[in-house]
Amino acid sequence: MGMAVNHLPQIREECEVFHLSDKALREIMHRLHNDLVKGLGKDTHANSIVKCWITYIQDLPNGKERGKFLALDLGGTNFRVLIINLGENHFDMQSKIYAIPNHIMTGTGVALFDHIAECLANFMKEHDVYEERLALGFTFSFPLKQLGLTKGILQRWTKGFSCSGVVGEDVVQGLKDAIARRGDVQIDICAILNDTTGTLMSCAWKNHNCKIGLIVGTGSNACYVERTENCELFDGAPGKPELLINTEWGAFGDDGALDFIRTEFDRDVDANSINPGKQIQEKMISGMYMGELVRLALVKFTKMGLLFGGRGSDLLFQKGSFYTKYVSEIESDKPGDYSSCMDVLEELGLAHASEADMCGVRAACESVSRRAAHLVAAGLATLLNKMAEPRVTVGIDGSVYRFHPHFHALMCDKIAALVQPGLQFDLMLSEDGSGRGAALVAAVACREQALA
Ligand code: BGC
Ligand code: MG
Repeated sequence: MGMAVNHLPQIREECEVFHLSDKALREIMHRLHNDLVKGLGKDTHANSIVKCWITYIQDLPNGKERGKFLALDLGGTNFRVLIINLGENHFDMQSKIYAIPNHIMTGTGVALFDHIAECLANFMKEHDVYEERLALGFTFSFPLKQLGLTKGILQRWTKGFSCSGVVGEDVVQGLKDAIARRGDVQIDICAILNDTTGTLMSCAWKNHNCKIGLIVGTGSNACYVERTENCELFDGAPGKPELLINTEWGAFGDDGALDFIRTEFDRDVDANSINPGKQIQEKMISGMYMGELVRLALVKFTKMGLLFGGRGSDLLFQKGSFYTKYVSEIESDKPGDYSSCMDVLEELGLAHASEADMCGVRAACESVSRRAAHLVAAGLATLLNKMAEPRVTVGIDGSVYRFHPHFHALMCDKIAALVQPGLQFDLMLSEDGSGRGAALVAAVACREQALA
């Protein structure tokens, strides 16, 4: 190799488009706050972008829930069936992951629900509960307009799903019908919930300050505890001072509210997605898109001659080839070490990368993931300021939060900078919210039904 020119300064300059100043973040918070208020308001809800759906989950677990429950978890990277035994101070859980083949993700709703029911029945056989009548909590991680704890109308698909005949329909009924078509297993669907809700519940089982649930995984979303008087659409039983709200903040920006910070890479990711113009905030943050944002930046820098001596590879130029887990791996290398980065570049057919190239690749990863963490931080700070409680724990799950080496620290620092002085917060990893959380919601629902 000849004398390599160091293009790093220029790459860093190009990456500035991903940098969000505190001023920009405060503007985002202001806009998100207004959108949340619109979502909650009777007269503004219909035209709101951030929907703030009421979850109808009114009781947090009190730690006394007991018994055997089934749970389904649909809407992340995997579909899972779980059986959970809640005991005193402990629980055991067995689960199995089932693939959702692409033709089912984009096929008919009937085929999707038949597939789910079949996996459920097989799972029950394998766990010797095929003959039992069990309660089930269904974590369904898509925007639902809930009409009750066991009734939810799908508003839109996200994250690569597009099954026909489900939008506008009650998802619980869809599953019940599929179970009835089989006619073999006895299931009581006690609750349908979002993964953010499950995450909050799972954390709240032990931590009573937990009042926000956050997912930074395949998609992005948060739920939080709101005062009932602010939830103008609530028409349920009076007397509860607080309600749990599923914000569906992934849709933030669908009306252009984030255009002032979007880059050419964001517009490209959106235009080539299955749902253009939708879930704009989610597309800047979540695991389904983060790797692709990095890839698009790398492609641009390569074409500018700033990386790989201007020579890319077929894989680098192929949509979807740069997985979000690569971002976490590359940023896990210690300073001066590039072993993970080298592995990734080799997988992409870029073994000719120099050390300067690897620095450039890491800089692109850092810029994209840092922006994501700061956007999430701005969202959380907005919720914390709105709730104005002295100390709130945030229960968090999702592959990006879990596996990115710096996401947690980036979030903590930025929330601290943005939140109202005096408000304390803790960010806590919530172990398997969408699984255990669903069982807990089902358990609480059973507890309530038993009392009624
Ligand atoms: C969905 C949310 C979900 C989030 C995280 C988004 O695409 O709309 O309902 O909570 O992903 O899984
Ligand atoms: Mg999940």
